[in-house]
Amino acid sequence: MSVNPYPLGLRLAGRRVVVVGGGVVATRRVPALLDAGADVLLVAPEVSPALRAHADAGRLRWLPRRFDSGDLDGAWLVHVAVDDPTAAASVSAVAAEHRIFCVRADDREAASAWTPAVTRHGPVTVAVLGGGDPHRAMTVRDAIRPLLHARKGPLLTDSVEEGSLVNTPAGGTGRGGRVALVGAGPGDPELITVKGWRLLTEADVVVADRLVPGLLLDELRTGVELVDASKIPYGPSRAQEEINQILVDRALAGASVVRLKGGDPYVFGRGGEELLACAAAGVPVTVVPGVTSSTAAPAAAGIPVTHRAVAHEFTVVSGHVAPDSPASLVRWDALARLRGTLVILMGLKNLSAITGALIEHGRPADTPAAVVQEATTGAQRIVRSTLVEVAAEVAGAGLRPPAVVVVGDVVTALNPLDLLGPETR
Ligand code: SAH
Repeated sequence: MSVNPYPLGLRLAGRRVVVVGGGVVATRRVPALLDAGADVLLVAPEVSPALRAHADAGRLRWLPRRFDSGDLDGAWLVHVAVDDPTAAASVSAVAAEHRIFCVRADDREAASAWTPAVTRHGPVTVAVLGGGDPHRAMTVRDAIRPLLHARKGPLLTDSVEEGSLVNTPAGGTGRGGRVALVGAGPGDPELITVKGWRLLTEADVVVADRLVPGLLLDELRTGVELVDASKIPYGPSRAQEEINQILVDRALAGASVVRLKGGDPYVFGRGGEELLACAAAGVPVTVVPGVTSSTAAPAAAGIPVTHRAVAHEFTVVSGHVAPDSPASLVRWDALARLRGTLVILMGLKNLSAITGALIEHGRPADTPAAVVQEATTGAQRIVRSTLVEVAAEVAGAGLRPPAVVVVGDVVTALNPLDLLGPETR
């Protein structure tokens, strides 16, 4: 009968861990060791490309040879990840002699330590040991994982959010308040990042944009204060000041605030202004990037923004200001001379002026062009055309914002495969 193991959390920062073997098992184990800050020494005549990349990047030291008993000098822990039982046993024996715990991939009974099945949720790590049965451990872990992800509230939150971009005066706000500028993705609620989702489910206050997927807000925990930023009256700049004020006030009152923004917070999202406002008020603030519509909307229409031998660049530009307006900061004449992909956001209103300017300055009139409305949502619509015709076709089809315009040969690059969904008009 085997005795129960004793669970521990090893704090490996700066401590030597030796990994013997360079195959699949070592490749899977090493990232968590590096994440824990361990000083990893890898001993194996040959290693996988992923392990070699860690070595090349200086994240670990690799001895390209077989194990030698001196390799365990100074080690706190050893992972044996080789198939050959004799080789593994000899590492085990040296480890036992030095009183170093030894994990063995080949023989759990011969090991002095077991690696648990793990799931992580922010600062919380759940480790499951299955009484010697790794399959049981994984099954239990898999059952726990969704509970953690569904769990809402401050229990799973970092009290000090590491990675805060802005240093606050000693003690910060004193109340633990903070702001996260979170990219919500282009529309499909599943296109938010894991980190963004975690912060959202933990938030006390959510300040959401018009473009934010409604379904995300459906799942907020009860008691969350939801501020709809699109309902704030006044003009755009005054409204932005109001939003900044709400973020700062709530955080100073101790709340975890999520500013949820469509796509990526920094792509025409005024995220920078909100960050500065928080910083000026001494509020800790982080940015969680999002999947931007500038790449996701083309992708949803089967358009890769780059494609080998077709486009080696993509340029993202705002079409909010008309090309002939004195307020325009965009060199449309220069853009017209590029060969690659042009992605235009907020471009519907000025579409005929924009396409006209591009053609006038040299972009061929028959360049493929497409417009994708409400990409990645149930309301997605696509119009495929050419630069010279797209504005009229979009008007005729009644497309409306939010929509992304894509110009370039990539628009038809995947056509031969007929991968694309049905055209909507
Ligand atoms: N930060 C956002 C962009 C904000 S500007 C991002 O990274 O995606 C708003 C513009 O984004 C819209 O006018 C439209 O051009 C584009 N946009 C946002 N979501 C979209 C979607 N689901 N489909 C098409 N265009 C979208």
